[in-house]
Amino acid sequence: MDTAVLMEPKLALSRPLEGRVALVTGASRGIGRAIARELADRGAVVVINFFNSIGRAQELREDIERSGGEACLMQGDVSNRQEARRAIHKLLEVYGRLDILVNNAGITRDRSIRKMTDSDWLEVIETNLNSMFYCTSAAVPAMVEHKYGRIVNIASFSGQAGNFGQANYAASKGGIIAFTKVLALELAKYNITANVVAPGFTSTDMLAAVPGEIQDQIRTRIPLGRFAEPLEIAKAAAFLICDGDYVTGQQININGGIYM
Ligand code: NAP
Repeated sequence: MDTAVLMEPKLALSRPLEGRVALVTGASRGIGRAIARELADRGAVVVINFFNSIGRAQELREDIERSGGEACLMQGDVSNRQEARRAIHKLLEVYGRLDILVNNAGITRDRSIRKMTDSDWLEVIETNLNSMFYCTSAAVPAMVEHKYGRIVNIASFSGQAGNFGQANYAASKGGIIAFTKVLALELAKYNITANVVAPGFTSTDMLAAVPGEIQDQIRTRIPLGRFAEPLEIAKAAAFLICDGDYVTGQQININGGIYM
């Protein structure tokens, strides 16, 4: 029997994103890094966006290449409209397409509303919410042209339930959820889906910045009794991208039950 014939369907099943180009913003660390890795493992060429952590981004690219995948680096501040758009136009010049966009880059500047400064507010809104508009609006024309697009926006349970000290962050994440529903409505006719993955507390540098005793208090509020691992969030994003052809405008909550 011809083994090549036997192998082919298996290869297609395990690498369903072969030939697709994916951009993951904020992919040097944490959840974005895990998503980039998952998409590369499924065959996509992954563009790793990062802002400061060049060493971590290079390490991820080498890691992907060692396991037979393809990745490249795209340094850029996605909260800066010119930089974000320039970076995506450059990507389109190089690859001629952008099939998958994961808007993941995010920051926190936690403070109660009585202490929150204008810059705490603006930095979070610009990085978490405005960046989605800059990247998505630059990516959509190429997706429309190819009649294919998978957009996954990373929100948070904080944008659904609210969270003490996060007026800025919760507003940005609630905005992401509303933004995504409009994308889903407007882009469905071009075979472009748009969905949200809403993580709960996840073990990354972002959570590590929270004082230990507060982390312990948070853990007691989570029905499953632990924080998520970045890979658990990445698998939900990969599901939407690989198997979510009939899913659009939805939110997948990966939060251990902290918000139902
Ligand atoms: P993280 O470990 O702090 O990593 C943040 C990533 O975003 C880094 O790769 C960072 O890049 C990048 N980034 C920040 N500002 C950027 C900018 N202006 N331009 C480009 N990249 C930028 O955070 P995380 O926990 O993985 O969070 C990822 C996403 O999940 C965020 O949207 C966050 O709000 C969301 N989320 C996280 C949790 C959680 O508990 N961890 C819960 C719910 C939702 P550099 O290091 O290169 O600067």
